[in-house]
Amino acid sequence: MFLETRNLTKRFGGLTAVNNVDFSIEQGKINAIIGPNGAGKSTFFNLMSGFHSPSSGKVFFKGQDITSLPSNKIAKLGIARTFQTTNLFEQSTVLDNVIVGHRLRTKSTLIDAIFRTPRLKHEEEQCREKAMEVIEFAGLKKVEDKLVGSLTQEEKKRTAFALALATDPEIVFLDEPAAGVNPEETEGLAELMEKMVQNSITVCLIEHKMRMIMKLADKIMVLNYGEKIAEGTPEEIRNNPTVIKAYLGG
Ligand code: ADP
Ligand code: MG
Repeated sequence: MFLETRNLTKRFGGLTAVNNVDFSIEQGKINAIIGPNGAGKSTFFNLMSGFHSPSSGKVFFKGQDITSLPSNKIAKLGIARTFQTTNLFEQSTVLDNVIVGHRLRTKSTLIDAIFRTPRLKHEEEQCREKAMEVIEFAGLKKVEDKLVGSLTQEEKKRTAFALALATDPEIVFLDEPAAGVNPEETEGLAELMEKMVQNSITVCLIEHKMRMIMKLADKIMVLNYGEKIAEGTPEEIRNNPTVIKAYLGG
């Protein structure tokens, strides 16, 4: 198994946001999580990436129990994520955003930073090289010196992808990557996700854009009120009566 959850549950006070979810992410594939607003999708991501501790249940990555590991430790294992609202610095360039984002995840200590040790200089150089590589990969070469605040919505999303990719992840979690982008830009982002998979990066995304998901995903899980109500190929999900009922509110 690649990444797997077992009986994963998260309660916030009296509310069960994620209820007993067993899910297994397929390596080298595009895995999607769909469901109505408030279904627990982002919370489920937070549990898998160490931003929340589950109330009960387990998360395994390549056989290792990573339940409740802090997010920085999980990131170091090769698990990266983006957030529903992009956390980019609008007043900095694309290149600086990616370099800084990457540096926050590297090993320099405060001592290194204060005394500007050779190790720090070496790391800075490496971060810069890596940033340029992922910027190229994400199709941002021509805007790398532009301020993020001046980018199109699609370019901002690509920058968020580049940030996640800078850590050389084996898997990326993308929370609503195509929210707020137009259909043409959505197509561009879908192509970038396919390119990630072609480069051996497993993708797991949350998305509301059904047309995109049905075309893009290899596997879909549907959450509703915190519970997994269906799992399968796009074809299976499209024809699943429980899913249709949940979406049409029947
Ligand atoms: P989705 O991403 O599917 O829209 P969320 O995972 O964001 O849903 O939220 C699931 C439920 O958990 C919602 O009812 C939401 O209000 C609640 N919730 C999410 N995060 C918190 C939190 N930190 N504290 C309390 N309740 C939360
Ligand atoms: Mg959400």
